[in-house]
Amino acid sequence: MNRPHLLLVEDESNIAQALLFNLELEGYRVTHVTTGAAALERFAGERCDLVILDLMLPDSHGIDICRQIRRQDKRLPILILTALSEEQHRVDGLDAGADDYLTKPFSLGEFLLRIKGMLRRSQWYRPESRAEIISFGANRVNLAELSADTAHGPITLTELEGRMLAAFFAAEGEVLSRSHLLEQVWGLTADTETRTLDNFVVRLRKHFEADPATPRHFQTVRGRGYRFVREPDSGGKAD
Ligand code: CA
Repeated sequence: MNRPHLLLVEDESNIAQALLFNLELEGYRVTHVTTGAAALERFAGERCDLVILDLMLPDSHGIDICRQIRRQDKRLPILILTALSEEQHRVDGLDAGADDYLTKPFSLGEFLLRIKGMLRRSQWYRPESRAEIISFGANRVNLAELSADTAHGPITLTELEGRMLAAFFAAEGEVLSRSHLLEQVWGLTADTETRTLDNFVVRLRKHFEADPATPRHFQTVRGRGYRFVREPDSGGKAD
């Protein structure tokens, strides 16, 4: 990818100017808009490689913008920025298809690392290499098409959910540490503090567990991490 093109959607001019300045220093091409309407217009008009999306916009809520972008492009990396400390907004953002979030105020260093990691992962992504269909419980998952049939009905997966499932499927029955998953799925270093991972496990359980409150396939292994078990009744032991 030569000179990635980023779409920055941020109405607070101090923050926008600081981000713009630093992103351009890093060599990115940046289109900056301040409203949801302008974001959708630019998104429709020109290809971009990543979207940085503030949630509180003057004309709309970033969650709606995120959902609309995701409806048209399943794979485009979306980073949401929120000034709201409430967990619920972050969960809503991830539900709407965002890949990651940063809560303001954040450090520029952390911000630039996230952008770099997200772009790198979207380049790594090779859907054709994961053509296999995985069945477990009442679920059939097609990673290449990012689709699945579940006990709760057919669903479309986001790219990040697909990567997370691929990591679990590749290590079936093994305990995956949080740091392993963060590195494998998000490309973050092991000491990064993020609840995103736990939120995504909650989402996978909502999709694929008959009873998400008592997971059988996506198990928590206390103090160690998570484990995927394809057939919990035949040998897999829940903690
Ligand atoms: Ca704002």
